[in-house]
Amino acid sequence: MAESVVHIGLLLPEVLGTYGDTGNAQVLCRRLRWRGLDAEVVPVGLGEPVPSTLDLYLLGGGEDGAQALAAAHLRKHWRSRSRGAVVFGVCAGLQVLGTRFRGLDGVDHDGLGLLDVSTEPGERRAVAELVATSSGLLPEPLTGFENHLGVSKLGADSEPLGTVVRGTGNGDGTEGAVTDRVIGTYLHGPALARNPELADLLLSWVAGHPLPPLDLPEVDRLRTERLTTTRRRR
Ligand code: GLN
Repeated sequence: MAESVVHIGLLLPEVLGTYGDTGNAQVLCRRLRWRGLDAEVVPVGLGEPVPSTLDLYLLGGGEDGAQALAAAHLRKHWRSRSRGAVVFGVCAGLQVLGTRFRGLDGVDHDGLGLLDVSTEPGERRAVAELVATSSGLLPEPLTGFENHLGVSKLGADSEPLGTVVRGTGNGDGTEGAVTDRVIGTYLHGPALARNPELADLLLSWVAGHPLPPLDLPEVDRLRTERLTTTRRRR
């Protein structure tokens, strides 16, 4: 971190904040402060350019219309987006970070091209708890809930974030996408509250080194409760 304050960009929370994903910014901020590091959440609204100076950029989920609006805005007003930033997008956020997505009306929209992912409406809406094993980036399984119609296909320049154990994820047994320091996922929860090691992975990319672990028994209890509840319902 070049400066002492970590700036966490929360992109378009008024349109990409439907499923509580703005909580991801709070989680990152807290996990830094608990380690004695300064952090600030910087919301960037519709109509504002996205500053190139932020350390990390977050995009949440949203409905189709809001998602198309967000993509159009970000294509125009996020000029620095290809410069190796750390980026995390959830659901509509994942789809916007991809190359292309199709709305329910059959209209194709260009994404930002930070992930090699294209999305089309599937046959059935996926509304469920989602559990995935991480494909190598993380030791622990990923948990969250999903609510989406989109089915996402990864191209050669993105790797899946994980393999689905329960739920739908991308729609082909894989979950999420990773290219360099950009991650997209279908996990709501907020994902970074439910998966603290994913939060710390993003922060370690920002810091340039792993951060010391945090001992938070209540977070461990939440994970255990969610994973066992999910197992019981299978
Ligand atoms: N509109 C997208 C879909 O249904 C995204 C939904 C969401 O962000 N939860 O696929």
